[in-house]
Amino acid sequence: MGMIITIDGPAGAGKSTVARALADKLGFHYINTGDLYRFITYCAILDNLNVNSAQLMDRLSLKIVEKYIQENSDIDLLSHINSISEKLHSPEVDKKVSFVARHSSVRKNLMSLQRLLVKDGSVVMEGRDIGTIIVPYANVKFFITADEYTRIMRRYKELQEKGYQITFSEVKKEILCRDYIDSRRETAPLTQPEDAIFIDTSHQTVSEVVEEMLEIVRRLKDF
Ligand code: C5P
Repeated sequence: MGMIITIDGPAGAGKSTVARALADKLGFHYINTGDLYRFITYCAILDNLNVNSAQLMDRLSLKIVEKYIQENSDIDLLSHINSISEKLHSPEVDKKVSFVARHSSVRKNLMSLQRLLVKDGSVVMEGRDIGTIIVPYANVKFFITADEYTRIMRRYKELQEKGYQITFSEVKKEILCRDYIDSRRETAPLTQPEDAIFIDTSHQTVSEVVEEMLEIVRRLKDF
């Protein structure tokens, strides 16, 4: 089996950009698990479901499978998720996703899918509980973060560039709310895996972070 690299960390830490670039450099698959939770949240919004309901997954799982089979039978779920990426990264989904992701039934449903996705290795998977819960046996684990202002500013700029009318303080509220829920939920909270390498991306460029990671991967695994 090929190497499995995990990258966990809070919103705005730069996980997606760095994970995608690292996977590219290594010729690995890149898997963004946040998009799976965002997809479920998006479906819940479309179906007008209460994201706080304990029955959310019971109602959703059927609908997701039905929709998937009826509308997307010829493309796989990840390609479908990829094709609606813009919709999954809207401020509305941002606001609700942590409420959806804290349900243990939602996490349980996505756990087997995520494990299936790493089974052949040669993969960089990023999220919140990848090194702790989903792939505790990963070869290399990173935990990346940045100071609060930097994380909020990154997200704010990203939304501005996409044309959303949103203020810095609205983005701040959303990021801090997600941080709070993601790190305090009962099931699989965001924590740094004990054996993870910690990287603070506040004052580094994307290529500096990726180079640092590549160095570590090469050194640890004689890659
Ligand atoms: O990574 P991203 O910010 O897109 O993730 C969106 C949300 O999905 C997170 O704030 C968190 O609530 C949830 N998530 C999670 N576990 C993961 C990945 C994402 O709970 N492994």
